[in-house]
Amino acid sequence: MNKIENIGVVGSGTMGNGIAHVFSLSKFKVTLVDLDKSILDQAISIISKNMERQVKKGLISEGDKQDGINNISVNTDISALSDSDLVIEAVSENYDIKSKIFTNLDSVCKPDSILASNTSSISISKIADATNRPDKVIGMHFMNPVPVMKLIEVINGNKTSKETLDSILDISKKLNKIPLECNDSPGFVSNRILMPLINEAAHCLMDNVAKEESIDGIMKLGMGHPMGPLMLADLIGIDVCVSIMKVLEDGLNDIKYAPCPLLLDMVKDQKLGKKTGEGFYKY
Ligand code: NAD
Repeated sequence: MNKIENIGVVGSGTMGNGIAHVFSLSKFKVTLVDLDKSILDQAISIISKNMERQVKKGLISEGDKQDGINNISVNTDISALSDSDLVIEAVSENYDIKSKIFTNLDSVCKPDSILASNTSSISISKIADATNRPDKVIGMHFMNPVPVMKLIEVINGNKTSKETLDSILDISKKLNKIPLECNDSPGFVSNRILMPLINEAAHCLMDNVAKEESIDGIMKLGMGHPMGPLMLADLIGIDVCVSIMKVLEDGLNDIKYAPCPLLLDMVKDQKLGKKTGEGFYKY
């Protein structure tokens, strides 16, 4: 296994800043890349606020926070990742953007660097084919919020090597996360199971089987879910849910994954959940 010390993260949004946060607190040097300096400045300010919350809860010390922030540098040029041992891509969920980034990473990074994607639904094998090192490409699907959630869903592309997988399982444990493996398939495991749950909850609401609070309450109190499916959909974003459902429907060629008409209407009406102030609930 190659030694992994320097980490690159491409994309400093919700997931990218969380990924930089957890690596930096585990004493890795992190270079965070995004399109412009103002986005990167905002990411550092979010990381700092999130670390401050951890200090207040007694989870880390003020010194850990300072060391963490000092471990992160920012850059708008992807070639700053030339000496990264592992790069994690967390840009928008769009194949064309991701494939261009992987082609660029393949040309700027050392030949033995591992390139991982945090995609929620795009095929890892297809992303890997944008590089000349498909054996060193893997899925590292962190959950939101990254500093809190324990799971990393590790996705093997059809050419991912055992050595790459072992390195990723090892580094995930160093982050105090729990890596669980699966093979490349539409929606992987997490979204292949979660999205039909959310979709069925939307059908229950559309068919007037129950109101929002009852649907969510039944799943929370009866099934032990920490959050009901409708509230979770609001948190993920209704548009994001619909686009993952379409990936499942097309990729698995089965209409059972087709998004509920109610979800499609919500996207049309821009009721996308928490981020737009209204989804199944008002915020
Ligand atoms: P986001 O929109 O918050 O952040 C994306 C970032 O990528 C933005 O800062 C944007 O400026 C940057 N970006 C876009 N194109 C770029 C480029 N060419 N070079 C550098 N930076 C670029 O998105 P997010 O919610 O953090 O999602 C990122 C990835 O993580 C997606 O693939 C998504 O499916 C996946 N994911 C999201 C969640 C979630 O709950 N948000 C959970 C798991 C996985």
